[in-house]
Amino acid sequence: MFDYRTRGQIPQIGQLVVVPFGKRRQVGLVLDIAEYSQLADARLRDIESILPVEPLPDHTLALIRFSSDYYQCPIGQAAFVALPAALRRVRYVGPKPQWQYVLTDAGRELRPDQFPARATIKHKLLEALRAKPVLRRADLLAVSARAAELAESWVREGWLEKYAGTVPSPRSDFRTTAQHELTEEQRNAVDAISAELGSYSPWLLEGITGSGKTEVYFRLIERAATRGLQILLMVPEINLTPQLEERFRERFPDLRLVSLHSNLAEGERCANWLAARAGEVQVVIGTRLSIFTPLPQLGLIIVDEEQDGSFKQQEGLRYSARDLAIYYARQRRVPVILGSATPSLETYHNARSNRFGHLHLSRRPAATRAPIKLVDVREMAKGQSISDQVLQGIGARHERGEQSLVFLNRRGFAPALVCNACGWNAGCSRCSARLVWHLRDAVLRCHYCGHQERLPRACPSCGNQDLKGLGQGTQHLEQLLCERFPDARVLRIDRDSTRRKHAWHTMQDDIRRQRVDILVGTQMLAKGHDFPKLTLVVVVNPDSALFSTDFRAGERLFQQLMQVSGRAGRADLAGEVLIQTQFPEHPLYQALVRQDYRSFAEELLDERRLAGFPPFVYQALLRADSQSESALMEFLDYAAGNLGTGHEAVTVYDPVPATVSKIAGHHRGHLLVQSASRTELQRFLSEWRLFLTRRKPSRVRWSLDVDPIEL
Ligand code: ADP
Ligand code: ZN
Ligand code: ZN
Repeated sequence: MFDYRTRGQIPQIGQLVVVPFGKRRQVGLVLDIAEYSQLADARLRDIESILPVEPLPDHTLALIRFSSDYYQCPIGQAAFVALPAALRRVRYVGPKPQWQYVLTDAGRELRPDQFPARATIKHKLLEALRAKPVLRRADLLAVSARAAELAESWVREGWLEKYAGTVPSPRSDFRTTAQHELTEEQRNAVDAISAELGSYSPWLLEGITGSGKTEVYFRLIERAATRGLQILLMVPEINLTPQLEERFRERFPDLRLVSLHSNLAEGERCANWLAARAGEVQVVIGTRLSIFTPLPQLGLIIVDEEQDGSFKQQEGLRYSARDLAIYYARQRRVPVILGSATPSLETYHNARSNRFGHLHLSRRPAATRAPIKLVDVREMAKGQSISDQVLQGIGARHERGEQSLVFLNRRGFAPALVCNACGWNAGCSRCSARLVWHLRDAVLRCHYCGHQERLPRACPSCGNQDLKGLGQGTQHLEQLLCERFPDARVLRIDRDSTRRKHAWHTMQDDIRRQRVDILVGTQMLAKGHDFPKLTLVVVVNPDSALFSTDFRAGERLFQQLMQVSGRAGRADLAGEVLIQTQFPEHPLYQALVRQDYRSFAEELLDERRLAGFPPFVYQALLRADSQSESALMEFLDYAAGNLGTGHEAVTVYDPVPATVSKIAGHHRGHLLVQSASRTELQRFLSEWRLFLTRRKPSRVRWSLDVDPIEL
């Protein structure tokens, strides 16, 4: 926080102002207005101007403050996350007025035959005005490039009325298109939650893909919107597809919906945010950042796929949008729904201990549940990566004109180049990571720092010319499938193949139009996409996650496998899921075959309780990095040795190098602290942070990560 003097107009709390900051000018957020400053008068600088934006409402300011406190992050940085980029520019001049044109009484008297026949634009404009009572700029452009000019002249004639911006306020008599008869479970869910509209109540809505959660959301949105309330629907980054928006608009053609995510153009994101702020839209669909959207009439928050890692921001303000949603719902006294097929253990634990209401959709109303089968690959020939059973399954689908998906869980599993003679493997010179072998471009690439090099002809260490690939990547699988099924159309979907803008959308379209027979891919394919002809899902190598050092790996693996299984047989075609494993007896796979997340979750919770892991304790991570390894360790030791006093409830572990201990020449390490009491941990962190901040600047960058989900 910084002090400034007001000159002339006094801004309101929550307003954005332009201030001198160092040698530059910056946009600042007014947090408080005081009579006096601790600063000497001579050092105080003046606020230059006030940006033409309504002040942020109190509840948004409170959310920003809370995030800043809880996630141990300077408030300026928190505000920075909350505001669209356009509003952080000193030159911001306010939204362009959105003029709208409506016929006046005189205008309604106009007859087409008043205009000469060759005045085609006049005829067209009149026609457009009769078809649609309010014309915006875009509508005018659709009539003709010169229609805007003509409309202006009609304003002067007194035939048109022109007004700026605000669209008539939300209607409560909106249409909804045809809908299903709800199942009893769905009806119970809708009734239970809608009875709580107007008060804080958190819910877990548990149900596998296709069990009708979205249908429940839609009914609740309908009920909330009927009361003039606004709804915030948050989804994981990758689920925010045009299909979802389309499905929504089809269902509620009259409701005003905007989306908010980081891929929007700056102007559009700002316009959507302002429209939400002004109460002109009823529904905001967005990714994690949308939690900060000021919604004056907020009535309901929905977090779909609440277990998804993309709700947690991994830099700057390291917030969890799901957790903030719960905080915010309480503050605004509205219900919050966390939807998931496989809830995070945190949420599951909250539901089981009655802190959250627990609703369950146990069946798929419109499709059967695809059976999950294990394929034991212990006996498979060395070097073979897809079993005969799986290949037969893919072949059979292909003959029937159905699609198969071969899914590779690539976490910690990527093709590497190794020398069998001396054990050398290709590593990145700037990171402590193995280089990934990209078959197509014949290069080795570092997935941490982007470094890239040609494939060596021989082992740089012993000269052996017979270098081997270790492990399969999607490109290897793609090649193998193309060879095996020469007349099938194979499509690979991963970060490389979808890098170009819109590539992924085009691909989804191709899949839906059945221009593809076999899909090969990673995470991107696991989520939320509905491909009606897809009947077989194959998971190639999920085993490595069973032996991860991350205590969340098992939970994540189950979640991911359930999710990708949900891709099989959504429509009227029966689906099947085949999982290749060397450990078919493992309890995780056994629970998966029974599609029994609950018993697995119970088991994991027992383990976590015994081991003293979240959700039974609260954690925070001090992350640090430096080009100097000794400076890094010195800093972490210093941090571990200066913990203040009176924090017996907090446990501090030893400093350790990060899993990837060096990235782009920066050594990385961390220090884990935890406590059974959230309050005690918070109290400790605030003190500790002040202490660390006061330490003289060193060559170390550091940050605190509260409730980290990755070590
Ligand atoms: P989820 O969000 O849990 O994946 P959806 O709400 O998208 O599930 O529903 C899956 C499919 O089932 C959709 O095609 C939807 O139209 C259909 N559906 C949902 N509820 C019902 C119902 N009560 N009766 C019939 N079909 C339904
Ligand atoms: Zn060698
Ligand atoms: Zn690297």
